[in-house]
Amino acid sequence: MIESDFENRIVSTTFQGNDDGDIEDSLRPRKMDEYIGQTKAKENLRVFIEAAKGRGESLDHCLLYGPPGLGKTTLAGIIANEMGVNLRITSGPAIEKPGDLASLITNLQPGDVLFIDEIHRLSRAVEEVLYPAMEDYAVDIIIGKGPSARSIRLDLPRFTLIGATTRAGQISAPLRDRFGVLMRLELYKPEELRDIVLRSAEILGIPVDPSGAMEIAKRSRGTPRIVNRLLKRVRDFAEVRGDGVVTREIADMALAALEVDHLGLDAVDRRMLESIIGNFGGGPVGLETLAATIGEESITLEDVYEPYLLQIGFLSRTPRGRMVTPAAYRHLGLNPNNSDCGQILFEDVK
Ligand code: ADP
Repeated sequence: MIESDFENRIVSTTFQGNDDGDIEDSLRPRKMDEYIGQTKAKENLRVFIEAAKGRGESLDHCLLYGPPGLGKTTLAGIIANEMGVNLRITSGPAIEKPGDLASLITNLQPGDVLFIDEIHRLSRAVEEVLYPAMEDYAVDIIIGKGPSARSIRLDLPRFTLIGATTRAGQISAPLRDRFGVLMRLELYKPEELRDIVLRSAEILGIPVDPSGAMEIAKRSRGTPRIVNRLLKRVRDFAEVRGDGVVTREIADMALAALEVDHLGLDAVDRRMLESIIGNFGGGPVGLETLAATIGEESITLEDVYEPYLLQIGFLSRTPRGRMVTPAAYRHLGLNPNNSDCGQILFEDVK
């Protein structure tokens, strides 16, 4: 049940099939100039792209890392576009066998961009096919079995691998070392997210006033995927309960109805904070213990919940585990100096 809670969160950073699909595609920026924020990454990429084009070479392999929904896939598409080449998209879990990857890369055209999402989930055997492919643009194929087996080397066209992962630390060192460019995407500032709302609203034909856009932006956990999703839900409220215009009041009413508070936290975030306070006296508590207590995978806690809670200063990481900060206590309406907070929370639950 907790699992599905997580999957269905309105503020989930993961891609949700249903009505997200086509719209997410239509909102995806295609050019570097349309890609809002991430100034540092963009500036550097512009230089690398121009230099590679000037030399008539393919772009070096890039590793993009950062929490889900920040624009890694979008950036891969933009890179392919700016380089004037094709983009092939796949993901770590989709490539089960070394042969799957071999057939994918032997079918690439010169210069193509191969995007592998969740690259940290590639199996060891598949990774080993990648090493010579990335370094020498070659793939070794074994023909036959047993003592008569022999290996032949096929040359590949020069291509660019773009790997995406939630954390660079999860990638094996030999794979990480083969990327020429490592880029970390940061959570977006509210002003950048506001610009994303205004851009998306224009594409979708939704009338939005700037304060309405800012309200949605402030409650979107620094994540473009969430800002776009909230915009669509707020539009529903604007059409049914208002005159169709997304104003600050309508946004506030809609987001309150969706239980997204004024900082973008939802019931799942609150449950996590309350569990640290109620069960562990505010921490420190180890990630694994916390995950077991709230019935969630520790990886999900670390990749999806934590980045935003850390950024807004509600959680801190210490060598002995996670701690809730006084700011989080106050946000939950609790007094950080009151040792009975756990008691108060549990009484609330009863
Ligand atoms: P990731 O691959 O990191 O999970 P995506 O690239 O799929 O994220 O981005 C999710 C959605 O957010 C995209 O559909 C796109 O519309 C929007 N988006 C992401 N980054 C930006 C950006 N910098 N500017 C505008 N929209 C963005």
